[in-house]
Amino acid sequence: MQKKIFIKTFGCQMNEYDSNRIYDSVKRIGFIKSKDLDNLDCYVINTCHIRDKAKEKVYHEIGRVKKKYNKKNKPIVVIAGCVAQAENQEMINREPYIDIVIGPQSYHKINEKLINFVKDKKIEETEFDTVSKFNYFDNIANKNSKISSFLTIQEGCDKFCSFCVVPYTRGPEYSRPFDKIISEAEELIKNGAKEIILLGQNVNAYSYKKKIKEYRISDIINKLENYSELKRIRYTTSHPRDMTDDLIECYSTSKKLMPFVHLPIQSGSNKILKLMNRKHTVEQYVEIYEKLKKINPDIEFSSDFIISYPGETDKDFNETVNLIKKIKFINSYSFIFSPRPGTKASNLKLIDKEIAKERLIKTQEYLFKFQLNMNKSFINKSIDVLVENKIEGQSKLFGRNQYMNSVIFEGNSDLIGKNRNIKIEKVNQNSLFGKIEKNNMKAA
Ligand code: SF4
Repeated sequence: MQKKIFIKTFGCQMNEYDSNRIYDSVKRIGFIKSKDLDNLDCYVINTCHIRDKAKEKVYHEIGRVKKKYNKKNKPIVVIAGCVAQAENQEMINREPYIDIVIGPQSYHKINEKLINFVKDKKIEETEFDTVSKFNYFDNIANKNSKISSFLTIQEGCDKFCSFCVVPYTRGPEYSRPFDKIISEAEELIKNGAKEIILLGQNVNAYSYKKKIKEYRISDIINKLENYSELKRIRYTTSHPRDMTDDLIECYSTSKKLMPFVHLPIQSGSNKILKLMNRKHTVEQYVEIYEKLKKINPDIEFSSDFIISYPGETDKDFNETVNLIKKIKFINSYSFIFSPRPGTKASNLKLIDKEIAKERLIKTQEYLFKFQLNMNKSFINKSIDVLVENKIEGQSKLFGRNQYMNSVIFEGNSDLIGKNRNIKIEKVNQNSLFGKIEKNNMKAA
């Protein structure tokens, strides 16, 4: 008999990718994806450790699940993802409602854990076993059928930025075999993907050696370029240190690589970058920016900023603001530093809360201004949009332009998966609204 499973996913694109792969795996043992939350056999919470108070958010979520089932028909409750990895047995000790805790490098064992699950016998599985995980998933078809599909090519991180938990929750850097990535990309294209977003915590650190050849992310991009059904290629998240010339070169050779680079810098001060152990300087970052702009002036940047990192003076902060003004990032994430347990920065003296808040407000004023200016620059222009889906309960369609802006317009569902020129009429901070151009000649 078929069993029902639901995965609530928090956090980044990689978690979304992982959740889909878990669905692909458990299907083999009779679990089907279900949104009928009142009648579930298994409830998975795929957690994220990046944001503030991540752990507490997970316990709140468990509280909600607990209330919902109220002991009757309790599903098997699984905690997956980075909080599971970081907290492991501790979670089971604190919350007996949890049945299984499974880390991100152990997902290949989820079928076995569910089959062998015995009521009241808790399971904790948080080994770093990345090679076995990908070997396992390489033999299971990726059933994702989204127009814009994620494809993990690399996991983990060896860089150990002082503030970051990733090296502890995802383990050391691992790059999947080139051939396996291409086979999975072919599968996604067969399922209807028109855009592939290559994923990795350090995606541009991708390095896979076979005999004397070292495959880099540029090789993956160049290979994907040949699939005529595929229209767009993106990658995230990259590190400035791994922005090598072969990858930069792709921006001049590839017609499908989108001209939008998400390249986190975190701070515009070299002193703070050093304290963060970022292993790059502001000058190196600006050099990458200039090289890319020279190749194509339409390339735009986004970044992540940690504001008020311990030790940040007014001078350091102003350097960040100056960098923002120089690059004019069009879409970025910015947060006040908050310590993550177990990281090097976890015990450092925090900047005064009021000062930190003021700095964040000022940062966001600039970031939002540049974002809105960019959006406004599209008004009355016709832009290329890949149509991704129909908005639920409306006659409108949703797509994205080359810079990942959401674009909303009237249209029929048969346009899903096609590119259309959309004339933009109005915009806000996050979205563009327009109409399909008459005489739309854009090839599908
Ligand atoms: S490079 Fe990125 S993932 Fe790695 S430690 Fe630094 S912030 Fe974390």
